[in-house]
Amino acid sequence: MPRTRASLLALTLAALTATSAFAQDDRAAAFDKLFEQLDSERLNPATPEAAKAEVARLRALVPPGDRRRELLYESTECFQSPEDVRAALAYAQQGLAASKALGDAEVEARFQLCEASVQEMLGQVQAALPLYTRGIELARRSEHPALVGDGLVLRGNTYSYIGRHAEALMDFMAAQRLYDGAHQAERSEGNLQNIAVAYRRMGESQKAREYLERSREIAKKHEDWPSLAVVAVQMGFLYQDLGRADLALPQFEEAVRIARLRLDTSLLSGTQLGLASAQVELGRYAQALSTLQAAKAGYASTGDQGDAGMVAVIEARARAGLGQTQQALALYATAEKILQSDQNDRYLEMMYPHRAALYERTGNATAALADYKRYLALREKRLAARAEQRTLMLRQQTDAAQRDFENQRLRTEKSMREQDVQALLKARRWQRIAIALGVALIAVLGLIVGRQIVRTRRLRVLASTDELTGVANRRRIELIGADAVAQSRADDRPLCVIAFDIDGFKAINDAHGHLIGDQVIARVAETCQHTLRQFDEIGRMGGEEFVVLLPDTTIDAARQVAERLRANVEALNFRDIAPALKVTISVGVTALAPRDAGLADLVARADQALYQAKAAGRNCVRTT
Ligand code: GH3
Ligand code: MG
Ligand code: MG
Repeated sequence: MPRTRASLLALTLAALTATSAFAQDDRAAAFDKLFEQLDSERLNPATPEAAKAEVARLRALVPPGDRRRELLYESTECFQSPEDVRAALAYAQQGLAASKALGDAEVEARFQLCEASVQEMLGQVQAALPLYTRGIELARRSEHPALVGDGLVLRGNTYSYIGRHAEALMDFMAAQRLYDGAHQAERSEGNLQNIAVAYRRMGESQKAREYLERSREIAKKHEDWPSLAVVAVQMGFLYQDLGRADLALPQFEEAVRIARLRLDTSLLSGTQLGLASAQVELGRYAQALSTLQAAKAGYASTGDQGDAGMVAVIEARARAGLGQTQQALALYATAEKILQSDQNDRYLEMMYPHRAALYERTGNATAALADYKRYLALREKRLAARAEQRTLMLRQQTDAAQRDFENQRLRTEKSMREQDVQALLKARRWQRIAIALGVALIAVLGLIVGRQIVRTRRLRVLASTDELTGVANRRRIELIGADAVAQSRADDRPLCVIAFDIDGFKAINDAHGHLIGDQVIARVAETCQHTLRQFDEIGRMGGEEFVVLLPDTTIDAARQVAERLRANVEALNFRDIAPALKVTISVGVTALAPRDAGLADLVARADQALYQAKAAGRNCVRTT
């Protein structure tokens, strides 16, 4: 009997432990699920209140004694908008120390990113940047790609805020690749707007529009009203940047409509402000004033002061348009004070020419001149900063391309070493047979499908990419080039053109055959494309001659790009197709000059430089 009782007791105990272990597992699973959900909403929570309630639910799910999940919960708590920012900083730093003690890179990364964003709330933007970078590195170590992406987006927003748009763009793009690779559709879709805004601020309107359109499509599908309103506002500003207030107007009207029907007051005021700016631009001053009135009422009800400078500028312009000069001047003075204290150079630059025109109308030439000078100084500063950002982008992108290229070379070398000579010889024998068969087939087919070829050729001319290399064909590069020349002249930015040609290519064809020759052309094109930035465009002009367009690039920077192209081609190896083959290119570089009638003049001059490079012994770069 006592035995039975003992075994019953043991059985009960075992059952109890099993149940509690099960409950523990269950709870952990529920925690992980909710954590994952909150984590993916971290960058765009529905509302702060809803997020707070969910975080409280998460806290209740922390399994007792589970230090890691406890810290994960605290890291989520850390990202809630705090009432006391100083206390939030202490909280983040405590969490950071605790996760370090735990030795868990992912948890540490989360607290590190949180500390960075709290520093930013405290206005310590410069201090926040290296903290974000450290958070991103920790996240990389934890092999959690979406978290790395989130870190990059946070840092990108900070860069964007302080006007380092190229760096912002690169962070957003890197995040996008990670999100897409990890199938994080929501994060990826949300990030499209970041990319669009960064492109717009860099003056890349076409790219900005592409991303906004993609974002709009997706938001429509999900009936995501806040996104639809934001996209419409951004589209409006994009058209306004391009001097097309007529196209901006319907975008802002659309944004106001969505905001009025679906969103809260704070978002509605922002859309009305955009609308008023387009109305002023179109000379509809009375309308603009009443739109502004509505926006101001909204701002007053939410206590939002963020756009006060912008509101004053638009109202000043409307009053000036209606002939209310004194009121307009008073409003301009208010606007100037606010914008200066916000260090909002963008809007100051927009404002000064308008005030100058008003001064001019009232006969105050001295004041007008002073404003024009302020405007020119700000414009100069902005264009210089933009050029610097673009050069930075060039350097970072070509460095990254260079790294990829090196890795690829090392990989190829490794695989070549692993392959023995026997296999190599066998491969080459097969290649020769394949080539012979190919030639025979072409001869036979040539007779049969002659007419088909004529048709294909016509289609190829109409298509925009070159079949062999996949880069732009001549027709397309000429189209893009004409645009680039016009854009460069409109924006007063430099434009460079590179022409290059493979050295001694006839000899390559003669020694290895046309099929190998084709492969050489394709690989040279591929290597060059990888060496270039995303704004640059490479096109095959025919045979083994190529042209590269480098928008917003000075001749010095272009010469560096040319030298990189030359070096990367020289470093190519063709051991898998023609072991002893070495390929080089000669390169000519030139910049757009005022006397150039169009792209053809530029290409002709780049060609002259190219011939100089050939005359100088080939495998070198020459500039005109
Ligand atoms: P250089 O250093 O002066 O450039 O010498 P080169 O031999 O390369 O001279 P050139 O550029 O004039 O020669 C181009 C040759 O490329 C002529 C033509 O037989 C060959 N070619 C042109 N298009 C193709 C093609 O699509 N595939 C192949 N395999 N060869 C081509
Ligand atoms: Mg050649
Ligand atoms: Mg040639």
